[in-house]
Amino acid sequence: MSRAMSDPAIRYDGLLSGGAMVAGVIGHPIRHSLSPRLHGAWIRALGIDAAYVPLQTRPDTFEMTVNALTGGTFRGVNVTLPFKERALALADDATDRAAASGAANVILYREDGTLLADNTDGEGLLYALRRQAPGWQPDRGPVTVIGAGGAARGAVAALAAAGAADIRILNRTRARADTLSALLPCKAFGWDDAATAFDGTATVINATSGQLTGDTPLPLPPASDGGIVVMDMVYKPLETPFLAACRALGHQTVDGLDMLIGQAIPSFVAFYGVAPPDLPVREILLAAMVPAPGDL
Ligand code: NAP
Repeated sequence: MSRAMSDPAIRYDGLLSGGAMVAGVIGHPIRHSLSPRLHGAWIRALGIDAAYVPLQTRPDTFEMTVNALTGGTFRGVNVTLPFKERALALADDATDRAAASGAANVILYREDGTLLADNTDGEGLLYALRRQAPGWQPDRGPVTVIGAGGAARGAVAALAAAGAADIRILNRTRARADTLSALLPCKAFGWDDAATAFDGTATVINATSGQLTGDTPLPLPPASDGGIVVMDMVYKPLETPFLAACRALGHQTVDGLDMLIGQAIPSFVAFYGVAPPDLPVREILLAAMVPAPGDL
């Protein structure tokens, strides 16, 4: 906690002091990141001497930029596309969940100058499922994850740690699913075996960056009598074509926006040493997602 917060003689007036706690989000591009609005809303509501800034870096300067922020001012950074794997490789140490995910979305600057990598995306995934599908449990039945990239790997690691016993990876490129199943407790399936991957499944998570369009549209879980929970990690648009099709098939759907919020909560605690306040952040983010005139 900074001196301005802990010393009652110093009233925080909304302006940053030289001892402000600073964190940010680093990526390429970063202009459309919602994280500065999310953390900024929490900071403003708490009235703490702190800031959260967007940090754009070129792909070839990621490591140099992260290393340049050591020294005391920065508490840590969130890491977004396309640097999550490189963030894990750059750090001196990693939490178990970051190591299991093979990627980091948080880097913390420790007082001794070393970097600690963490991954809170899995916590965000579970937060979203529990919030939008009340009563959902990781062990309610088989979980089918579509995709085999970094987000899918993090999802498998988090689901397995939370108690999911039957996890299936369904990916367009079967070899990539095989690679993942050699690393983590899950079974691999290719597009041509989608029916087996969906057989008896209770939860489906889309962790691809693809949608229903294109040469190889995403496979859909078959209609059921309402027992399947389907989540899409993508939140722009909030209802993706994949989620809309699953809803039309009678499945309960979960969008990706609460995953963003769920990964940010532990990040905020790690950066500023205090829990975020209870705010309608989902509504704040939805308002921010309305395109500005310059974005049209
Ligand atoms: P990634 O490592 O690049 O992996 C991409 C995955 O998508 C691969 O499995 C790839 O399959 C598949 N894919 C791409 N285009 C496809 C298409 N047209 N048809 C079928 N499959 C396709 O990306 P990632 O980091 O895992 O991220 C995946 C998604 O999750 C992104 O959209 C990201 O924005 C989202 N995400 C959201 C949150 C959140 O907070 N809500 C957090 C993390 C990630 P192949 O192996 O066959 O190429």
